Amino acid sequence: MSKIDRQLLAAQRGWSQEKLEKAHVAVVGSTNLAQLLVTDFLAMEFGTVTWCGRPSIPTITFDSFNPQAQHFVTGNIFGHATAFDEYVGKPDFLIDAVNDPEEKMQIMAYSIHAQVPLLSCSASKTGIYYKFVNANDSARDILQTQERIWANSNDGTSNSVIAAGLISDNIRKRISPLTNEKPHEIQDRYQLNSKERNAGYEERKPRILQIGAGGTGNFAALTLSMQGLSADIMDNDVVEESNLSRQVLFSDADVANRANKAKALASRLGSSWRFIDYKFGSDFSTKEKYDVVLCCVDNNLARYHINKYCMAQNIPLINCGTGLNHGVVMPVVRGETACLDCQVLGELGKAYAQGSSAGQRNGGGCHEAAIVTPNQIVGALLADRVRKVVFDNNLSAFTYRTTDGIIKYSPFEICRPVCR
Ligand SMILES: [Zn+2]
Repeated sequence: MSKIDRQLLAAQRGWSQEKLEKAHVAVVGSTNLAQLLVTDFLAMEFGTVTWCGRPSIPTITFDSFNPQAQHFVTGNIFGHATAFDEYVGKPDFLIDAVNDPEEKMQIMAYSIHAQVPLLSCSASKTGIYYKFVNANDSARDILQTQERIWANSNDGTSNSVIAAGLISDNIRKRISPLTNEKPHEIQDRYQLNSKERNAGYEERKPRILQIGAGGTGNFAALTLSMQGLSADIMDNDVVEESNLSRQVLFSDADVANRANKAKALASRLGSSWRFIDYKFGSDFSTKEKYDVVLCCVDNNLARYHINKYCMAQNIPLINCGTGLNHGVVMPVVRGETACLDCQVLGELGKAYAQGSSAGQRNGGGCHEAAIVTPNQIVGALLADRVRKVVFDNNLSAFTYRTTDGIIKYSPFEICRPVCR
């Protein structure tokens, strides 16, 4: 078994680990976005990752930023604690994730001079921007667009996590596309936002129950924690080696100790996170008054019970799911949307009728191919929706596809007759 076993299963769909192992990417910046990009490239085991950032980060080694993820470091990461300079050499891709316009200009000039393909990107609380820069692009346009993104803040939380997933996936596609994926020239801008900057959001923190601490659960929890939120968290699986390429907050020690996932995640994120030692089933009950339940599980049987519980208790639910290169985030609120089973056309009821022994894991089942980026994008998007669902009754749902990016849709409003 290896850390990237689940990723290697994607070989049937065109994944080439060999090509990724030959690849060299250089990331410039010490923003949240830059740090998460580095995490992704290491998680996917790109051959060489060069990272440089301002000396304001004292020792810019991967260890110092994310001690939990040291197991990614294979000796091929090079950190430089200075402003951008020519020591990035000639990578296959250069990624500008800095916020300083002057430094952006330097990086653009270098990419033209050294003939290195450049991707310029930004993420703030109000949006995401990324673009593969061409020789005929106007540097002024690129800078002005990014300055608009930074207008309210220049280093977002959920948007940084989402953007890093989209960007690292785009770079990966150019090196090792899956069948049907086109590594196209893409410029994506999302306005996913966000009232994070509005005072009302700071007044009360929603009480959150997160069920599932796997791929999407790791990134949901990381993003909530970056937003200053915390949750009660339950998951009765233990950390396995093949989880590590996606569940980036777990470590080799968690594997060795056969640590419970929810317990390991809660202890990593701090004392405001509480581990709930319980396997979610039909008999779940609690005196806690939760504002929202996050469903980050990997099978429809668990979703069936969670949907029932949330409908009965009238607690808003945000469900998510992922496949190899796609995913979905779906709010479910009694009286406002159809229940989760009706939104997925009876699939949960079907899984329940067939019984748990049939093991209906789907959307990320443990023997299917899986990569880090959809988990990251979907987990962060789910966390991004929490305050919108709880405080704004904003019930937009989203799909993510590697070919189309993130697309918003409205959930079904009414349950099927069979459910009513
Ligand atoms: Zn229903």
